[in-house]
Amino acid sequence: MKFDQLGLSAELLRAVNDQGYTSPTPVQEKSIPVVLEGHDILAGAQTGTGKTAGFTLPMLHLMQKNHVERHHQRPVRALVLTPTRELAAQIGESVSTYGKYLPLRSTVVFGGVGINPQIEKLKRGVDILVATPGRLLDLANQRKVDLSKIEFFVLDEADRMLDMGFIHDIRRVLKLLPRQRQNLLFSATFSKEIKQLAGGFLNSPVFVEVARNEATHQVTQVVHPVSKSKKRALLSHLISDGEWQQVLVFTKTKHGANRLTKQLESDGIQAAAIHGNKSQTARTKALASFKKGGIRVLVATDIAARGLDIDQLPHVVNFELPHVAEDYIHRIGRTGRAGRTGKALSLVCGEEDKLLRGIERLMKKSIPSALIAGFEPRPEDELQAQPEQQRGRPEHRRHNPHSPRKPRSARGRRPGRREREARKAS
Ligand code: AMP
Repeated sequence: MKFDQLGLSAELLRAVNDQGYTSPTPVQEKSIPVVLEGHDILAGAQTGTGKTAGFTLPMLHLMQKNHVERHHQRPVRALVLTPTRELAAQIGESVSTYGKYLPLRSTVVFGGVGINPQIEKLKRGVDILVATPGRLLDLANQRKVDLSKIEFFVLDEADRMLDMGFIHDIRRVLKLLPRQRQNLLFSATFSKEIKQLAGGFLNSPVFVEVARNEATHQVTQVVHPVSKSKKRALLSHLISDGEWQQVLVFTKTKHGANRLTKQLESDGIQAAAIHGNKSQTARTKALASFKKGGIRVLVATDIAARGLDIDQLPHVVNFELPHVAEDYIHRIGRTGRAGRTGKALSLVCGEEDKLLRGIERLMKKSIPSALIAGFEPRPEDELQAQPEQQRGRPEHRRHNPHSPRKPRSARGRRPGRREREARKAS
Protein backbone atom coordinates (compact mmCIF):
# COMPACT_ATOMS: atom_id res chain seq x y z
CA MET A 1 0.00 0.00 0.00
CA LYS A 2 1.07 3.57 -0.70
CA PHE A 3 0.49 6.61 1.51
CA ASP A 4 -1.55 8.36 -1.17
CA GLN A 5 -4.18 5.61 -1.02
CA LEU A 6 -5.09 6.53 2.55
CA GLY A 7 -6.98 9.71 1.69
CA LEU A 8 -4.64 12.13 3.44
CA SER A 9 -4.32 15.73 2.26
CA ALA A 10 -1.66 16.82 -0.22
CA GLU A 11 0.13 18.84 2.48
CA LEU A 12 0.41 15.83 4.75
CA LEU A 13 1.56 13.57 1.91
CA ARG A 14 4.22 16.10 1.06
CA ALA A 15 5.47 16.14 4.65
CA VAL A 16 5.49 12.33 4.73
CA ASN A 17 7.37 12.28 1.47
CA ASP A 18 9.94 14.73 2.88
CA GLN A 19 10.57 12.19 5.64
CA GLY A 20 11.40 9.61 3.02
CA TYR A 21 8.64 7.21 4.02
CA THR A 22 7.57 5.10 1.08
CA SER A 23 4.67 3.17 2.52
CA PRO A 24 2.66 3.18 5.72
CA THR A 25 3.65 0.79 8.50
CA PRO A 26 1.04 -1.84 9.54
CA VAL A 27 -0.30 0.25 12.40
CA GLN A 28 -0.62 3.28 10.15
CA GLU A 29 -2.36 1.28 7.47
CA LYS A 30 -4.86 0.05 10.01
CA SER A 31 -5.46 3.12 12.13
CA ILE A 32 -5.38 6.03 9.65
CA PRO A 33 -8.60 5.08 7.76
CA VAL A 34 -10.42 4.34 11.02
CA VAL A 35 -9.51 7.70 12.55
CA LEU A 36 -10.38 9.50 9.30
CA GLU A 37 -13.85 7.96 9.50
CA GLY A 38 -14.28 9.56 12.90
CA HIS A 39 -14.15 6.44 15.08
CA ASP A 40 -12.56 6.11 18.48
CA ILE A 41 -9.76 3.60 18.46
CA LEU A 42 -8.19 1.26 20.92
CA ALA A 43 -4.82 0.42 19.43
CA GLY A 44 -2.35 -2.19 20.53
CA ALA A 45 0.96 -0.87 19.31
CA GLN A 46 4.27 -0.07 20.89
CA THR A 47 6.80 2.61 20.06
CA GLY A 48 8.83 1.77 17.01
CA THR A 49 5.83 0.68 14.95
CA GLY A 50 5.18 4.16 13.55
CA LYS A 51 2.17 4.68 15.81
CA THR A 52 2.86 8.40 16.30
CA ALA A 53 2.22 9.09 12.62
CA GLY A 54 -0.63 6.60 12.90
CA PHE A 55 -2.59 8.99 15.09
CA THR A 56 -0.99 12.33 14.16
CA LEU A 57 -1.57 12.18 10.40
CA PRO A 58 -5.32 11.50 10.41
CA MET A 59 -5.85 13.89 13.30
CA LEU A 60 -4.03 16.69 11.46
CA HIS A 61 -6.03 15.87 8.34
CA LEU A 62 -9.35 16.27 10.16
CA MET A 63 -8.17 19.39 11.95
CA GLN A 64 -7.00 20.93 8.69
CA LYS A 65 -10.44 20.36 7.17
CA ASN A 66 -12.21 22.31 9.90
CA HIS A 67 -9.56 24.92 10.48
CA VAL A 68 -10.69 28.51 10.76
CA GLU A 69 -7.89 31.07 10.77
CA ARG A 70 -7.82 32.82 14.15
CA HIS A 71 -4.79 34.57 15.49
CA HIS A 72 -5.64 34.90 19.13
CA GLN A 73 -7.84 32.91 21.41
CA ARG A 74 -7.40 29.73 19.40
CA PRO A 75 -8.91 27.01 21.51
CA VAL A 76 -6.81 23.90 22.00
CA ARG A 77 -8.45 21.37 19.68
CA ALA A 78 -6.28 18.29 20.20
CA LEU A 79 -4.67 16.95 23.35
CA VAL A 80 -2.04 14.21 23.33
CA LEU A 81 -1.30 12.89 26.81
CA THR A 82 1.94 10.94 27.26
CA PRO A 83 3.69 9.48 30.30
CA THR A 84 7.21 10.90 29.95
CA ARG A 85 8.85 14.15 29.05
CA GLU A 86 11.01 12.52 26.40
CA LEU A 87 8.02 11.00 24.71
CA ALA A 88 6.13 14.30 24.89
CA ALA A 89 9.07 16.10 23.27
CA GLN A 90 9.29 13.48 20.53
CA ILE A 91 5.61 13.52 19.76
CA GLY A 92 5.80 17.32 19.68
CA GLU A 93 8.56 17.05 17.09
CA SER A 94 6.52 14.58 15.03
CA VAL A 95 3.48 16.88 15.09
CA SER A 96 5.65 19.75 13.82
CA THR A 97 7.26 17.54 11.18
CA TYR A 98 4.05 16.08 9.79
CA GLY A 99 2.18 19.37 10.12
CA LYS A 100 4.84 21.60 8.63
CA TYR A 101 2.73 22.58 5.60
CA LEU A 102 -0.39 23.20 7.67
CA PRO A 103 -1.45 26.42 9.37
CA LEU A 104 -1.83 24.61 12.72
CA ARG A 105 0.19 25.43 15.81
CA SER A 106 1.36 22.96 18.40
CA THR A 107 3.29 23.03 21.63
CA VAL A 108 4.58 20.65 24.27
CA VAL A 109 4.23 21.05 28.04
CA PHE A 110 5.92 18.92 30.69
CA GLY A 111 7.31 19.31 34.18
CA GLY A 112 10.90 19.77 35.27
CA VAL A 113 11.31 22.97 33.27
CA GLY A 114 9.97 26.52 33.76
CA ILE A 115 6.21 26.90 33.40
CA ASN A 116 6.21 30.53 32.23
CA PRO A 117 7.44 30.00 28.66
CA GLN A 118 4.74 27.32 28.33
CA ILE A 119 2.09 29.76 29.58
CA GLU A 120 3.30 32.35 27.06
CA LYS A 121 3.01 29.87 24.19
CA LEU A 122 -0.48 28.84 25.26
CA LYS A 123 -1.49 32.50 25.41
CA ARG A 124 -0.40 33.00 21.82
CA GLY A 125 -2.76 30.24 20.74
CA VAL A 126 -2.19 26.54 20.19
CA ASP A 127 -4.22 24.00 18.20
CA ILE A 128 -2.45 20.83 19.31
CA LEU A 129 -1.13 20.35 22.81
CA VAL A 130 1.18 17.49 23.76
CA ALA A 131 1.48 17.11 27.53
CA THR A 132 2.46 15.02 30.49
CA PRO A 133 -0.34 14.79 33.08
CA GLY A 134 1.22 16.63 36.05
CA ARG A 135 2.15 19.80 34.22
CA LEU A 136 -1.09 19.83 32.27
CA LEU A 137 -3.12 19.74 35.49
CA ASP A 138 -0.91 22.47 36.96
CA LEU A 139 -1.67 24.66 33.98
CA ALA A 140 -5.35 23.82 34.12
CA ASN A 141 -5.52 24.63 37.86
CA GLN A 142 -3.91 27.99 37.16
CA ARG A 143 -6.48 28.48 34.38
CA LYS A 144 -3.74 28.87 31.81
CA VAL A 145 -5.17 26.23 29.52
CA ASP A 146 -8.73 25.63 28.46
CA LEU A 147 -9.53 22.07 27.45
CA SER A 148 -13.24 22.55 26.95
CA LYS A 149 -12.96 22.74 23.15
CA ILE A 150 -10.97 19.54 22.66
CA GLU A 151 -12.03 17.60 19.56
CA PHE A 152 -9.34 14.91 19.73
CA PHE A 153 -7.96 13.22 22.80
CA VAL A 154 -5.01 10.85 22.41
CA LEU A 155 -3.87 8.77 25.35
CA ASP A 156 -0.49 7.43 24.37
CA GLU A 157 1.32 4.54 26.08
CA ALA A 158 -1.65 4.06 28.36
CA ASP A 159 -0.11 0.99 29.99
CA ARG A 160 2.93 2.95 31.07
CA MET A 161 0.71 5.75 32.33
CA LEU A 162 -0.95 3.31 34.68
CA ASP A 163 2.38 1.74 35.69
CA MET A 164 3.59 5.19 36.61
CA GLY A 165 0.54 5.83 38.77
CA PHE A 166 -1.13 8.40 36.54
CA ILE A 167 -4.62 6.91 36.72
CA HIS A 168 -6.03 9.66 38.97
CA ASP A 169 -4.43 12.38 36.87
CA ILE A 170 -5.95 10.85 33.74
CA ARG A 171 -9.37 10.86 35.35
CA ARG A 172 -8.90 14.50 36.37
CA VAL A 173 -7.93 15.42 32.81
CA LEU A 174 -10.93 13.56 31.40
CA LYS A 175 -13.22 15.69 33.56
CA LEU A 176 -11.88 18.81 31.87
CA LEU A 177 -12.73 17.60 28.37
CA PRO A 178 -16.01 18.12 26.54
CA ARG A 179 -18.28 15.08 26.06
CA GLN A 180 -18.24 15.26 22.30
CA ARG A 181 -14.77 14.31 21.05
CA GLN A 182 -12.84 11.59 19.26
CA ASN A 183 -10.64 9.41 21.48
CA LEU A 184 -7.57 7.44 20.47
CA LEU A 185 -5.94 5.14 22.99
CA PHE A 186 -2.58 3.47 22.36
CA SER A 187 -1.10 0.84 24.58
CA ALA A 188 1.52 -1.84 24.06
CA THR A 189 -0.26 -4.21 26.44
CA PHE A 190 -3.85 -4.68 27.62
CA SER A 191 -4.27 -5.44 31.28
CA LYS A 192 -7.63 -5.53 33.05
CA GLU A 193 -6.97 -1.98 34.27
CA ILE A 194 -6.36 -0.68 30.73
CA LYS A 195 -9.54 -2.29 29.50
CA GLN A 196 -11.43 -0.76 32.40
CA LEU A 197 -9.99 2.67 31.69
CA ALA A 198 -10.70 2.33 27.96
CA GLY A 199 -14.27 1.18 28.64
CA GLY A 200 -14.79 4.30 30.74
CA PHE A 201 -14.17 6.86 28.03
CA LEU A 202 -13.93 5.30 24.57
CA ASN A 203 -17.05 5.35 22.45
CA SER A 204 -17.62 2.08 20.52
CA PRO A 205 -13.92 1.94 19.67
CA VAL A 206 -12.50 0.08 16.72
CA PHE A 207 -9.81 -2.28 17.93
CA VAL A 208 -6.58 -1.96 15.97
CA GLU A 209 -3.80 -4.36 16.69
CA VAL A 210 -0.38 -4.94 15.28
CA ALA A 211 0.77 -8.42 16.10
CA ARG A 212 3.81 -8.45 18.32
CA ASN A 213 5.69 -10.31 15.65
CA GLU A 214 4.94 -7.65 13.09
CA ALA A 215 6.34 -5.09 15.46
CA THR A 216 9.45 -6.95 16.45
CA HIS A 217 10.28 -9.09 13.44
CA GLN A 218 13.07 -6.76 12.39
CA VAL A 219 14.92 -7.34 15.62
CA THR A 220 17.31 -10.26 15.95
CA GLN A 221 17.39 -11.36 19.55
CA VAL A 222 20.05 -13.31 21.35
CA VAL A 223 20.81 -14.26 24.93
CA HIS A 224 24.39 -14.43 26.18
CA PRO A 225 24.59 -16.48 29.37
CA VAL A 226 27.21 -14.97 31.68
CA SER A 227 27.98 -14.81 35.38
CA LYS A 228 26.67 -11.73 37.09
CA SER A 229 30.18 -10.63 38.06
CA LYS A 230 31.37 -10.83 34.44
CA LYS A 231 28.54 -8.88 32.85
CA ARG A 232 30.30 -5.56 32.94
CA ALA A 233 33.51 -6.99 31.41
CA LEU A 234 31.47 -8.74 28.71
CA LEU A 235 29.66 -5.53 27.87
CA SER A 236 32.93 -3.59 27.54
CA HIS A 237 34.30 -6.45 25.44
CA LEU A 238 31.30 -6.40 23.11
CA ILE A 239 31.40 -2.63 22.76
CA SER A 240 35.15 -2.40 22.17
CA ASP A 241 35.35 -5.48 20.02
CA GLY A 242 32.32 -5.14 17.79
CA GLU A 243 31.60 -2.81 14.97
CA TRP A 244 28.92 -1.18 17.02
CA GLN A 245 28.63 2.52 16.53
CA GLN A 246 26.21 3.15 19.35
CA VAL A 247 24.31 1.11 21.84
CA LEU A 248 21.46 1.64 24.27
CA VAL A 249 21.98 -0.37 27.46
CA PHE A 250 19.22 -1.13 29.93
CA THR A 251 19.65 -1.60 33.65
CA LYS A 252 16.95 -2.32 36.21
CA THR A 253 17.73 0.52 38.59
CA LYS A 254 18.86 4.14 38.50
CA HIS A 255 21.67 3.25 40.85
CA GLY A 256 22.74 0.44 38.51
CA ALA A 257 22.66 2.81 35.54
CA ASN A 258 24.93 5.30 37.29
CA ARG A 259 27.35 2.63 38.40
CA LEU A 260 27.56 1.00 34.99
CA THR A 261 28.12 4.37 33.31
CA LYS A 262 31.06 5.09 35.61
CA GLN A 263 32.50 1.64 35.02
CA LEU A 264 32.25 1.94 31.25
CA GLU A 265 33.92 5.31 31.39
CA SER A 266 36.74 3.83 33.43
CA ASP A 267 37.08 1.26 30.60
CA GLY A 268 37.55 4.20 28.21
CA ILE A 269 34.04 4.04 26.72
CA GLN A 270 32.08 7.29 26.55
CA ALA A 271 28.77 6.74 28.25
CA ALA A 272 25.94 8.67 29.87
CA ALA A 273 23.07 7.62 32.09
CA ILE A 274 19.48 8.66 31.66
CA HIS A 275 16.93 7.98 34.39
CA GLY A 276 14.28 9.58 36.55
CA ASN A 277 16.66 11.04 39.13
CA LYS A 278 18.48 13.10 36.53
CA SER A 279 17.29 16.63 35.93
CA GLN A 280 15.39 17.26 32.73
CA THR A 281 18.31 19.33 31.45
CA ALA A 282 20.74 16.47 32.09
CA ARG A 283 18.41 13.97 30.38
CA THR A 284 17.92 16.19 27.33
CA LYS A 285 21.66 16.86 27.13
CA ALA A 286 22.58 13.17 27.34
CA LEU A 287 20.01 12.23 24.72
CA ALA A 288 21.06 15.02 22.36
CA SER A 289 24.71 14.08 22.71
CA PHE A 290 23.89 10.43 22.03
CA LYS A 291 21.80 11.33 18.98
CA LYS A 292 24.66 13.44 17.62
CA GLY A 293 27.09 10.58 18.17
CA GLY A 294 29.01 12.39 20.94
CA ILE A 295 28.65 9.43 23.27
CA ARG A 296 28.63 5.79 22.30
CA VAL A 297 26.64 4.29 25.11
CA LEU A 298 23.43 5.49 26.67
CA VAL A 299 22.59 3.61 29.85
CA ALA A 300 18.91 3.84 30.68
CA THR A 301 16.23 2.56 33.00
CA ASP A 302 12.90 1.40 31.58
CA ILE A 303 10.93 4.48 32.44
CA ALA A 304 13.47 6.98 31.17
CA ALA A 305 13.90 5.11 27.91
CA ARG A 306 10.23 4.69 27.30
CA GLY A 307 9.34 6.06 23.90
CA LEU A 308 12.88 7.18 23.07
CA ASP A 309 13.04 7.63 19.35
CA ILE A 310 16.58 7.31 18.17
CA ASP A 311 16.91 6.86 14.45
CA GLN A 312 19.19 4.10 13.29
CA LEU A 313 19.96 2.56 16.62
CA PRO A 314 21.11 -0.89 15.62
CA HIS A 315 21.91 -2.31 19.07
CA VAL A 316 20.11 -2.62 22.35
CA VAL A 317 21.65 -4.50 25.27
CA ASN A 318 19.74 -5.76 28.27
CA PHE A 319 22.44 -5.61 30.90
CA GLU A 320 19.80 -6.90 33.28
CA LEU A 321 16.46 -8.34 32.30
CA PRO A 322 13.43 -6.31 33.37
CA HIS A 323 11.17 -7.59 36.14
CA VAL A 324 8.12 -7.05 33.99
CA ALA A 325 8.20 -9.13 30.81
CA GLU A 326 6.34 -6.47 28.78
CA ASP A 327 9.23 -4.08 29.40
CA TYR A 328 11.46 -6.39 27.39
CA ILE A 329 9.24 -5.79 24.37
CA HIS A 330 9.42 -2.05 24.92
CA ARG A 331 13.19 -2.19 25.29
CA ILE A 332 13.87 -4.12 22.13
CA GLY A 333 11.41 -1.87 20.32
CA ARG A 334 14.08 0.86 20.51
CA THR A 335 15.90 -0.90 17.70
CA GLY A 336 14.71 -2.29 14.38
CA ARG A 337 12.34 0.65 14.10
CA ALA A 338 9.95 1.06 11.20
CA GLY A 339 11.54 -1.17 8.67
CA ARG A 340 15.16 -1.06 9.80
CA THR A 341 16.94 -4.04 11.25
CA GLY A 342 18.29 -4.21 14.74
CA LYS A 343 19.82 -6.52 17.27
CA ALA A 344 18.85 -6.98 20.90
CA LEU A 345 21.31 -8.76 23.17
CA SER A 346 20.54 -9.88 26.69
CA LEU A 347 23.28 -10.66 29.20
CA VAL A 348 21.59 -13.21 31.38
CA CYS A 349 22.93 -14.71 34.61
CA GLY A 350 21.59 -17.80 36.35
CA GLU A 351 19.31 -15.93 38.71
CA GLU A 352 17.53 -14.29 35.76
CA ASP A 353 16.43 -17.57 34.23
CA LYS A 354 12.90 -17.19 35.56
CA LEU A 355 12.56 -13.71 34.10
CA LEU A 356 13.76 -15.01 30.75
CA ARG A 357 11.16 -17.75 30.78
CA GLY A 358 8.47 -15.16 31.47
CA ILE A 359 9.62 -13.09 28.48
CA GLU A 360 9.65 -16.10 26.19
CA ARG A 361 6.17 -17.06 27.35
CA LEU A 362 4.92 -13.57 26.58
CA MET A 363 6.50 -13.56 23.12
CA LYS A 364 5.45 -17.15 22.49
CA LYS A 365 8.91 -18.00 21.22
CA SER A 366 12.29 -18.86 22.65
CA ILE A 367 15.27 -16.60 22.18
CA PRO A 368 18.40 -18.30 20.84
CA SER A 369 21.39 -18.23 23.13
CA ALA A 370 25.11 -18.12 22.49
CA LEU A 371 28.06 -18.35 24.83
CA ILE A 372 30.89 -15.90 24.32
CA ALA A 373 34.35 -17.39 24.58
CA GLY A 374 36.07 -16.30 27.77
CA PHE A 375 32.78 -15.26 29.37
CA GLU A 376 31.12 -18.63 29.90
CA PRO A 377 29.38 -18.62 33.27
CA ARG A 378 31.34 -20.35 36.02
CA PRO A 379 29.98 -20.90 39.54
CA GLU A 380 33.15 -19.50 41.12
CA ASP A 381 32.59 -16.16 39.35
CA GLU A 382 29.44 -15.67 41.34
CA LEU A 383 31.58 -15.15 44.46
CA GLN A 384 32.77 -11.88 43.01
CA ALA A 385 29.23 -10.73 42.53
CA GLN A 386 28.76 -10.66 46.28
CA PRO A 387 29.40 -6.96 46.99
CA GLU A 388 26.69 -6.06 44.52
CA GLN A 389 24.23 -8.50 46.02
CA GLN A 390 24.78 -6.85 49.38
CA ARG A 391 23.99 -3.43 47.98
CA GLY A 392 21.66 -1.46 50.16
CA ARG A 393 22.99 -2.80 53.47
CA PRO A 394 24.70 -0.35 55.81
CA GLU A 395 28.29 0.32 54.79
CA HIS A 396 29.83 -1.41 57.85
CA ARG A 397 28.08 -4.69 57.05
CA ARG A 398 29.30 -4.93 53.48
CA HIS A 399 31.75 -7.63 52.46
CA ASN A 400 33.21 -8.14 55.89
CA PRO A 401 35.94 -10.76 55.44
CA HIS A 402 35.46 -11.94 59.01
CA SER A 403 31.78 -12.53 58.62
CA PRO A 404 30.89 -16.03 59.79
CA ARG A 405 28.12 -16.22 57.21
CA LYS A 406 29.09 -18.02 54.09
CA PRO A 407 27.86 -16.28 50.91
CA ARG A 408 25.09 -18.24 49.21
CA SER A 409 27.04 -18.48 45.99
CA ALA A 410 29.93 -20.14 47.80
CA ARG A 411 27.68 -23.12 48.31
CA GLY A 412 27.73 -23.58 44.58
CA ARG A 413 25.07 -22.90 42.00
CA ARG A 414 23.35 -25.15 39.55
CA PRO A 415 23.72 -23.65 36.08
CA GLY A 416 20.48 -22.11 34.78
CA ARG A 417 18.46 -23.73 32.00
CA ARG A 418 19.72 -21.18 29.49
CA GLU A 419 23.31 -21.81 30.44
CA ARG A 420 22.89 -25.60 30.20
CA GLU A 421 21.34 -25.29 26.75
CA ALA A 422 24.02 -22.93 25.51
CA ARG A 423 26.75 -25.26 26.82
CA LYS A 424 25.15 -28.18 25.02
CA ALA A 425 24.90 -26.19 21.81
CA SER A 426 28.47 -24.92 21.89
P1 AMP B 1 6.99 5.63 16.47
O1 AMP B 1 6.54 4.21 16.66
O2 AMP B 1 5.86 6.52 16.19
O3 AMP B 1 7.82 6.10 17.62
O4 AMP B 1 7.90 5.70 15.15
C1 AMP B 1 9.09 5.00 15.04
C2 AMP B 1 10.00 5.52 13.94
O5 AMP B 1 9.49 5.14 12.67
C3 AMP B 1 10.17 7.02 13.88
O6 AMP B 1 11.56 7.26 13.80
C4 AMP B 1 9.48 7.45 12.63
O7 AMP B 1 10.17 8.53 12.04
C5 AMP B 1 9.56 6.22 11.75
N1 AMP B 1 8.43 6.04 10.82
C6 AMP B 1 7.14 6.30 11.07
N2 AMP B 1 6.38 5.98 10.02
C7 AMP B 1 7.20 5.47 9.08
C8 AMP B 1 7.00 4.93 7.75
N3 AMP B 1 5.79 4.86 7.21
N4 AMP B 1 8.07 4.50 7.08
C9 AMP B 1 9.30 4.57 7.65
N5 AMP B 1 9.56 5.06 8.87
C10 AMP B 1 8.53 5.51 9.59
